[in-house]
Amino acid sequence: MRGIVDRLRDCHELLPWQYKALLTMRDPHDIEYLMGQAREVTQEHFGTGIYLRGLIELSNVCRNDCLYCGIRRSNSQVSRYTLNREQILSCCKIGYKIGFRTFVIQGGEWGEERSQWIADIIRDIRQGWPDCAITLSLGEHPKETYALWHEAGADRYLLRHETHNQRLYSLWHPRQMTVTHRLQCLEWLKESGYQVGAGIMVGAPFQSLNNMVEDIQYLVSFKPHMIGIGPFIPQHDTPFRRFPSGSVDMTTRLYAILRLALPQALIPSTTALATVAPDGRLRGILAGANVVMPNLSPKDTRGLYSLYDNKAAMGAESAQGISRLADELSTIGYQINWSRGDSPAI
Ligand code: SAH
Repeated sequence: MRGIVDRLRDCHELLPWQYKALLTMRDPHDIEYLMGQAREVTQEHFGTGIYLRGLIELSNVCRNDCLYCGIRRSNSQVSRYTLNREQILSCCKIGYKIGFRTFVIQGGEWGEERSQWIADIIRDIRQGWPDCAITLSLGEHPKETYALWHEAGADRYLLRHETHNQRLYSLWHPRQMTVTHRLQCLEWLKESGYQVGAGIMVGAPFQSLNNMVEDIQYLVSFKPHMIGIGPFIPQHDTPFRRFPSGSVDMTTRLYAILRLALPQALIPSTTALATVAPDGRLRGILAGANVVMPNLSPKDTRGLYSLYDNKAAMGAESAQGISRLADELSTIGYQINWSRGDSPAI
């Protein structure tokens, strides 16, 4: 097993059976060897600093109907909200004061008629906080829209491909959505000049080990700047409500494998991971993650952005919350890195 880990660290790529071996190995010493190597590689490139991204949940209005997602269009139990311009800028103001230098605007997917409004907001943020990075996570759009937002000042874009497997993708999404189009969007984003993030949900219904191997292979070939991976977690008003959550073990193994494959990637220890286990966030970092994304959304809408049940919160919108996070990180020898944290690969 260690030979395979060493090979991945040295060559950044493996054969499918070797990835599978890493995903299924059981000896705790072998697993710890993988994690240790991933930590070493992370520290070679990033030291023990963890970048912060302030997440602003723009809206839970969505035109899509993804079967796993709590804010899917046909979930009539959701009370829908959209932040207004003042609320968004106020999140940035509060975040900046705490020390955040990246804002992530995430939300459900809207039609193109609202793209201009979003471009205006991006311009406002760019003007108000010129030293901050602006990351978008707003789903699939035409290339022109991505270009418009990039010109307005957005630097980065997160669009998880969710799964590379066509059949599985079609089991998770309504018929109009295809993995081909999602991958096309990721190409457009790269061509438009964004730092791009792709990624998957782990342990979601019907997903096999082979599917995860395909995802690793896709990520290795696409080489995203950022990799967003979290366990699937059921949401009680979705068709997938009866399926179990993905595991910390599988999610952290993927972090470690992808760290060795793409040493310079920015990998968040995700909120979903912190939701499935109290020590999830730290275990993600100990597997090679180097980013945390605290929530900066206004308190009164936060509960409404419920992609899945029991979403973890860390109260990071307050300076107090951040100092708690810093304390938590220090217990494993890490600390917050307050810089913008652009991808070293650009
Ligand atoms: N509308 C945007 C943002 C989606 S929400 C987009 O399409 O990209 C961000 C991510 O949350 C999704 O990419 C998905 O991977 C994750 N997510 C959604 N529902 C989830 C669930 N039930 N469990 C875990 N992660 C989920």
